[in-house]
Amino acid sequence: MENKKYNKATEAVWAGEDNPYFKEAVTTPIVNSVAFAYNDLDKWYDISVGKEDGFIYSRNTNPTVASLEEKIRVLEGAEAATAFATGMAAISNTLFTFLKPGKRVVSVKDTYGGTSKLFLDFFPDYQVDIKLCETGDHEEMEMEIAKGCDLVYLETPTNPTLKIVDIKRIALAAKKVGAIVVVDNTFATPINQNPLSLGADLVLHSATKYLCGHSDAMGGLLAGSKELVQKVFHFREINGASLQADPAYMIARGMKTLELRVSRQNESAMKIARYLKAHSKVSDVFYPGLETHIGHDIAKSQMRGFGGMLSFALDGGYDLVEKFLPSLKLVHLAASLGSVSTLAGPPRTTSHVELTEAQRAHLGIPESLIRYSVGIESVDDLLQDLEDGLKKI
Ligand SMILES: *Cc1c(COP(=O)(O)O)cnc(C)c1O
Repeated sequence: MENKKYNKATEAVWAGEDNPYFKEAVTTPIVNSVAFAYNDLDKWYDISVGKEDGFIYSRNTNPTVASLEEKIRVLEGAEAATAFATGMAAISNTLFTFLKPGKRVVSVKDTYGGTSKLFLDFFPDYQVDIKLCETGDHEEMEMEIAKGCDLVYLETPTNPTLKIVDIKRIALAAKKVGAIVVVDNTFATPINQNPLSLGADLVLHSATKYLCGHSDAMGGLLAGSKELVQKVFHFREINGASLQADPAYMIARGMKTLELRVSRQNESAMKIARYLKAHSKVSDVFYPGLETHIGHDIAKSQMRGFGGMLSFALDGGYDLVEKFLPSLKLVHLAASLGSVSTLAGPPRTTSHVELTEAQRAHLGIPESLIRYSVGIESVDDLLQDLEDGLKKI
């Protein structure tokens, strides 16, 4: 499908689906074939060397996976895209493709837990210099980038306090020193934010979250220029972190309703954030859609919607969380996010369990903080559920 010709809701349904592979099927089938057979040896050779389009072996590409790749390519307005077994596979393949001994990365302190582990525990062994700046301190980032760097890695909004990074501003600083800009767009989704249009070179997703949307398949996706995506693809096809046809189908199926789900989640999260903000038992609410949120103005300028993720602190200690969370009826207390059902958990015992109380405080994470991933349920029911829970504390 041509880039930017249709609206997101149309792209989500049709991208990658306009050329069915099997008979007259109206949906792209799951092609569970490891290899693809050619009686014409010349054709086999031409496909192998890339002279002709086609499939050879599913670790490289596969028809179902290619259809999913086309979906994210169009939704992110990119030249090319490639898929991975998980979101972390997309992140580690991208970083290991471009980082070699002597290279320097500038990123933020609030990246996804797995990403920050790569930066802090793994890359130092490869003599890669990593500088993690305070998330949202744009002056510090610009100063660090200007010192010279090869890759700038961003995430916005971040987990769990939804801090916002100005992608356009940081990409501009990165261009001056020739650094590649990579953005993890998992929280925003391509419905709410397109980092490539703001100057990023590569955008990646944990497709496990909003893109799949049903908590039943894992995957990762990367989109950007042909040249950069091709480099990461080549590393991925060799190291083997490839996506299988079954989860690719599940994710593509989920993505057909992405715009519907995210629109609902944007709307519901805004209402819930406003409700919590006004509640006497809630001491703080973090949601980029609130005018009082520290990143609101930047979020407004780079996002079309503020997303379905929010967090809030109960007015008291962790003991309140222990009473409140299990009393909620319409929520899975689980580590993931971006699903049709509402998911929640305390960062203190989930995403940030390995940090000390002081380290969490340094990141601005109160002990009584609750991360809340709004599902597609009726917002009236979710509000009632929260109201009932808050009455119990
Ligand atoms: C979950 C998540 C990841 C990792 O994705 P997996 O599919 O679990 O490997 C990366 N970034 C963000 C922002 C996430 O929420």
